[in-house]
Amino acid sequence: AIELHDVELSLGRGAARVHILKGVSLAVERGEAIGLVGPSGSGKSTLLMTMAGLERPDSGTVRIDGEDLAPLDEDALARFRGRRIGIVFQSFHLLPTMTALENVAVPLELAGASDAFARARAELEAVGLGARLSHYPAQLSGGEQQRVALARALAPDPAILVADEPTGNLDEATGAQIVDLLLAMKRERGATLVLVTHDQSLARRCDRTIALRSGRIERAGEPALA
Ligand code: ATP
Ligand code: MG
Repeated sequence: AIELHDVELSLGRGAARVHILKGVSLAVERGEAIGLVGPSGSGKSTLLMTMAGLERPDSGTVRIDGEDLAPLDEDALARFRGRRIGIVFQSFHLLPTMTALENVAVPLELAGASDAFARARAELEAVGLGARLSHYPAQLSGGEQQRVALARALAPDPAILVADEPTGNLDEATGAQIVDLLLAMKRERGATLVLVTHDQSLARRCDRTIALRSGRIERAGEPALA
């Protein structure tokens, strides 16, 4: 579960400092899928990064599976993220000099997994890329690249998966396939999913939507429309 209580967060320095999150409180249950929506600049990415322990609030608390993140130093926080949280971005963030298999296996290996390549292969097969293991990112379609990024995020078996506009660089049909895959993976693994999207129809596939406006939650707890 992810719990935020009265989170305030500003970014930037001096005159460029911007108050972004303004008293955000929310709770996401274990196994729940949340669609996070709101206008551009409303703070969705900042909120997602805060929920993933990549941004620290100025005040308020962030708890993941009951653990308050505030007392953790940077190393402890990085280890916590590595164990518990998978992250997927709009722009895939694959390493161009590595094959699909290496993109998934190398981070696992760096994290100390002994069976990194076998696990990476299994993750890529699970997202339907068993026939693309030796392809480089430039040899893959956008949807395929995002599947590699998803396999990489899921490989450490995180309890929480956060995705920031994962369909933003994909056409509508491919984007819908990626969201189907995200939801299927979260169901199979009992993970918690937070999906940021501009697309209301994609957000409504989640169990619940949360809308942000100017750094505040506009409405929460509404069941997703069928
Ligand atoms: P989009 O839909 O365009 O991705 P968003 O809802 O994800 O928007 P954020 O990226 O969270 O919005 O940004 C919220 C606000 O905070 C914006 O006004 C942005 O300019 C500002 N902001 C984000 N990062 C910083 C930063 N490092 N320093 C200063 N301001 C920032
Ligand atoms: Mg954003």
